[in-house]
Amino acid sequence: MNKKKLNALGQIEDEISHCDKCSLCISRTRTVPGEGNIEADIVFIGEAPGAKEDATGQPFCGAAGKFLDKMLISINLDRDKVFITNTLKCRPPENRDPLPSEKLACRDYLIRQIEIINPKIIVCLGRHAMADLLPEQGLIAQLHGQLIKHTDNRLYLPLYHPAAALHNGGLRTTLMSDFQKIPEILQKINQ
Ligand code: URA
Repeated sequence: MNKKKLNALGQIEDEISHCDKCSLCISRTRTVPGEGNIEADIVFIGEAPGAKEDATGQPFCGAAGKFLDKMLISINLDRDKVFITNTLKCRPPENRDPLPSEKLACRDYLIRQIEIINPKIIVCLGRHAMADLLPEQGLIAQLHGQLIKHTDNRLYLPLYHPAAALHNGGLRTTLMSDFQKIPEILQKINQ
């Protein structure tokens, strides 16, 4: 276990737990900093905690999370092999879209988490994570499933959000087929 990484991530988690940089600190029940393997090759980044995540403090533990787990299993990856977090660490009321000011307030936590974990691939789940990390790259409808080397020299894979895919059969098929590209991408990177 890498103690330096663990401490650095713990420090961020602690800061998040006291964070009052935006008004979501008033309505949240718990902060949801993210969790998983700190040595992960892949970090998954969703949009924001929902009701279940707000109640438990765990990312992707509701219906979308169950679907994400299913897709991870389909490529022989367990949750404990990856790191999962969100662009926002607190739930927006009624699950509304994150506001630009909220994303900005939370951005530094996400960037520091990525720097510390230093994954080989960053999977942006949905348009919010993609817009946050790959600004000006284009629309998720055009870029989903394509590996993108960004100006920060990191590799990003934008995918549709599991929650969006839950309610749309077409998106679900596309997301599941995009997801199947992950093992091959990892294999190529590790060669
Ligand atoms: N749960 C999360 O943690 N993030 C999402 O984006 C959706 C559900």
